Parts: sequence; structure tokens; C-alpha cells
Amino acid sequence: MVKEQAAGEKRVAATPETVKKFIGLGAEVAVEAGAGLTASIADGDYAAAGATVADRAATLAGADIVLGVQGPAPESLAGVKPGAWIVAGLNPFGERARVDAYAAAGYEALAMEFMPRITRAQSMDILSSQSNLSGYKAVLDAAAEYGKAFPMMMTAAGTVSAAKAFIMGVGVAGLQAIATARRLGAQVSATDVRAATKEQIESLGAKAIFVEKVAGIEGEGTGGYATEMSEEYKAAQAELVSAHIAKQDIVITTALIPGRPAPRLISDAQIATMKPGSVIVDLAVEQGGNVEGAVAGEVVERHGVKIVGHRNVPSRLAADASALFSRNLFNFLSAFWDKEKGAPVLDEEIGNAIRLTQGGKVVNERLLG
Ligand code: NAD
Repeated sequence: MVKEQAAGEKRVAATPETVKKFIGLGAEVAVEAGAGLTASIADGDYAAAGATVADRAATLAGADIVLGVQGPAPESLAGVKPGAWIVAGLNPFGERARVDAYAAAGYEALAMEFMPRITRAQSMDILSSQSNLSGYKAVLDAAAEYGKAFPMMMTAAGTVSAAKAFIMGVGVAGLQAIATARRLGAQVSATDVRAATKEQIESLGAKAIFVEKVAGIEGEGTGGYATEMSEEYKAAQAELVSAHIAKQDIVITTALIPGRPAPRLISDAQIATMKPGSVIVDLAVEQGGNVEGAVAGEVVERHGVKIVGHRNVPSRLAADASALFSRNLFNFLSAFWDKEKGAPVLDEEIGNAIRLTQGGKVVNERLLG
């Protein structure tokens, strides 16, 4: 397991807990010195779990499987032999050149974010484990930028009214954002294009705001993901959002469509109708942004409204995010561990879904199609 090299990446792909478990399977584990420091894990903790802690070259020498949070730069993998597995969140659409370089080097690159959303793979799903933390942190980030309190408070000096929070996109992150904003005492409403989320919103005690009577409201494509909506739907959604958004103090957007830029949900004109001091958090900012004017890595102000665009939100909770990410990797590799071979052997369903490169070529349907 190597130290992450991407700027701002504080997570790690193995913890002492998973190191111990990999050793229990019969694997030898090497960890690059200092890899865990940004996630509050000392080298000594890895060593105590049974790992060899070494410099990068020694860690990689002879490795059969390289674990990462993000895909390691191919040129940083000197010493890793052809045929070795690179298992990480590889951002296959965004980092296509890197995928090609893995193929050229003969590596078998496995993209954890392509894990199929099937029951048996739930414990291996990095998108879920990391989105859940993002949804939580987005609400805390909003609360930190907001100049008022979230809960209603009745004090001797008078009443403070509850903040109104609106969550747009109710997948894993959105559901956690609803729950967290409710726990902090906000009045919460939420919307999504997938009709199935209406009941989930209501079961969390929030108000569902939905476009009615437009064909295509189902909005659900393969694997439970959203699809691109019709122009008619988009117009109806914009009208509904305009009316609602002007009354909100906090808006958190999480809407994504796999393999496409994030849908634009809030325009600058809509932001202008919001109260000064309101806060918008755009969790989709790195995929193109749901909010006009959001800037990745910055908190900007438009019409007196703060727009929060932190990058890599799970990394802002590096210790917990690493613990869950590492378990996802372990759950995946251990489920396919072949004791006789002393290595994992994938089945077709999951192997074909996540394998990007093999035998010097890009082999994944989603990248070829
Ligand atoms: P996501 O991150 O792809 O998108 C976030 C949300 O944005 C989704 O709910 C989506 O419907 C919504 N959205 C997209 N376009 C929108 C628009 N124009 N307006 C408003 N909302 C919009 O979603 P996700 O968190 O990955 O979850 C997607 C689905 O997968 C959910 O049904 C979830 O329950 C399911 N899931 C299944 C498994 C499993 O079975 N292993 C694991 C995790 C999630």
C-alpha cells in the first residue's frame, strides 16, 4: 500500500485493521513509510499489525497487488511487474490517459467505483461509503459558513428561528445530509428525479419537493442511477426550485449522472433570489457542478450567498473515510481470495464490471462503448 500523491488527498487505502486481516488471509503486506500520517495512523501502528514499513521503491518491489485511494501515477510505479493489480478509485472517465498508461505497462487496473450495485457487493462499494461521509460533512461545512444557528432556540432574550435546509439529489450523500441537517435541528426539504426517493425523504422526517405530472418522472436508469431528464422536465424542475429556493437558508446539492457532467440545478438568477447570508454547498463541483458560479476548491460569494465548493470532501474526514475505504477494499479482495493460489480470483460479473485493463489493452465496456 502506497502513500497517496494527489494534492489534498489525506486518505489511505489500508489501515492497521485491514493489514492484520490481509495477513490473516496469508498475504504479505508492505506499507510506504508515512502513508497513514494524514489519516492519523502512525507507521508503528502498521508495523504492529504485521506490515513491513519501507520506502516507496521497497514497498512496490515485487508487489502483486497495489492498493490506493486514487490511482497512483503510472510513472510512480517503477518496480511493479506486468500483470500486477492496481486496485483503487481510478476515476476512469476523468483520467483516461492514466488508464491507457496502466494498459501499456501491462497492469490489470481495477476501478473500485465501477463496482456493480448489487446486494453482495454492497460492502465493497467505495462510492457509498465515501458519499455517506460527504453528505454528513457537507452539512457541517454549511453550518460553519452560516452566520446563524440551525435549531430553533427559545431563550430569555427571544426566539431564534430554525434554519431551512433544502437537499437536492437524494442518493447516499443526500440521505445522510437530510439526516444530519435534521439532527442539527434544521427544517429540511429535499428533491430528486427518482420517484423512489420520495418515500425515503419522508421517512427521514423531511418534506419531499417533487415535479409532478411530467412524463419521465421515474428518472431511474440502470443500477438505480439517475438518467438525463427531458427538456420539459428540466423546465418544470427549474420553476419548482425557483419558488422553493428563495425561502431557503441552506442548500446542499449532490446530483450526479454516471459518466456525464453533473446536471445544472441552480442558476445565478436563482441565487439572486436567496436571502443574503444563505449558504449553498455543491458536492458535485468536481464533476462540473450543480450550481452556477461554484468553484472547485473555493468558497465564493454571489449576491451575498456563499457557495462552498470543497474538493474531495471525504478526505476532510480522513480517518473515518480511510477506515471505511480500506474495509471496502478488504471485503472485495477477501471475498474472492483463493487459498490455494494465495491470491484473489474474480468472478465474471464483478471482474468484467471493474476491470479496466488486461493483457496490455483497455478491456472495459464502459470505456470502449
Ligand atoms: P449519485 O451519486 O449517482 O447521484 C446522487 C443523486 O442525484 C441521485 O439520487 C440521483 O437520482 C440524483 N439526481 C441526478 N440528477 C438529478 C437532477 N437533475 N435533479 C435532482 N436530483 C438528481 O447517486 P448514489 O448516491 O450513487 O445513489 C444512486 C442509487 O444507487 C440509489 O438508488 C442508491 O440507493 C443506490 N445504491 C445501491 C447500492 C447497492 O445496492 N450496492 C449502493 C449504493 C447506492
